Amino acid sequence: MTVLSYYCHRLRVEAEGLRVASLLGTGAPNQDLAGGDCVSAIAVQNVSKVWADSTAVDDISFTAPAGEFTILLGPSGCGKSTTLRLIAGLESLTFGRIVIGERDVSALPPARRDLSMVFQSYALFPHLSVAENILFGLKVRRVERAERDARLMRTAELLGLTALLERRPSQLSGGQQQRVALGRAIIAEKPVCLMDEPLSNLDAKLRHEMRVEIRELQHKLGITMVYVTHDQAEAMSMADRVILLRDGRIEQDAPPEEIYQRPATAFAARFIGTPPMNIVRLDERAEGAVIRGSDGPALLPPSGCAISLGVRPEDISLGESGGVPATVHAVEYLGADSIVDCDLGEERIAVRAQGKVAIAAGARVGLTWPTDALHFFETESGRRRDDLAQEVPAKLVAR
Ligand code: ADP
Ligand code: MG
Repeated sequence: MTVLSYYCHRLRVEAEGLRVASLLGTGAPNQDLAGGDCVSAIAVQNVSKVWADSTAVDDISFTAPAGEFTILLGPSGCGKSTTLRLIAGLESLTFGRIVIGERDVSALPPARRDLSMVFQSYALFPHLSVAENILFGLKVRRVERAERDARLMRTAELLGLTALLERRPSQLSGGQQQRVALGRAIIAEKPVCLMDEPLSNLDAKLRHEMRVEIRELQHKLGITMVYVTHDQAEAMSMADRVILLRDGRIEQDAPPEEIYQRPATAFAARFIGTPPMNIVRLDERAEGAVIRGSDGPALLPPSGCAISLGVRPEDISLGESGGVPATVHAVEYLGADSIVDCDLGEERIAVRAQGKVAIAAGARVGLTWPTDALHFFETESGRRRDDLAQEVPAKLVAR
């Protein structure tokens, strides 16, 4: 590294540090770490953020209840970080209001919103020890020494960092560095914590461990958490409530199991679950709707509207005959189960079967599913149509 690039790097790290310090540093001491009632609930009301040439957040409203784990989920560019930065006060609102507890914080600077934040790039100070990194915000805030030390011990204990306090960040593993970044937020003992993809720099195994740790920590401390991720597995495993965003708008706001079991739109249906839900187009025929390009059987009476059928790979049973006829396209063995791709007319459907299945490409099979595993969506709007599920012919769906 040249001297110049070293100093550029130092400047970037310092700037990030100041940004973090402004969040961790000078707010009022926490009155209500235990969450509990509505003291630290967050209400986002009709919020929009318009940049010069685009709308990043488009009139969204939701509540993150006190002491709960709320996740903003969605593909890259859908407005997750912008929403989080609006809550933090790092961006100004174009329209709308943000209320934390009883206070309208819309016009308050970050340091007066009484929250802490963990960013994706956690930018520890390389020349400071773990202890100094964790304490940085409290020092800026001039918390007295005895209080600082007590909080440091508590935080280090909680995060398993007690033996590492004298080390420099370069002497830590990725997971340990991530824990230091969490420590920096936790030691502020704020009732609200915002996290923006904090695990995306870690490998898969560590991500999984940290998922469990963060969830436990939030639970133990009763913090109101708003956590951003694009990873549906992270959202499913950590959240009390998932707010699924698409193009700056809310696609669905529900507990994870509800989004999985009753996705409000075809987009929500495909975003949650791996492999994603099969969604196939239906062709209208005189006798009813059949899978596009297939000879039937009819899956629905004629409905007069373009409809797509959704069914999850894990809800389909594979038999030698009966049900809806299909041809096996490929089999992928994964250990605990296999994914069998089947062709039906012009559509392809993935089936999850247990263990290793003795079926080869080209085999003729029959697919069945329980009635309540079927989801219907308007093809044009993607909107869920629960009314249609009542009309499925009974003989097709018995397992
Ligand atoms: P996500 O975090 O979901 O990936 P972001 O909230 O970062 O998405 O971005 C949402 C949209 O806003 C994107 O189209 C992005 O390009 C745009 N955007 C984000 N920050 C800025 C900015 N400072 N200036 C202009 N456009 C921005
Ligand atoms: Mg982002």
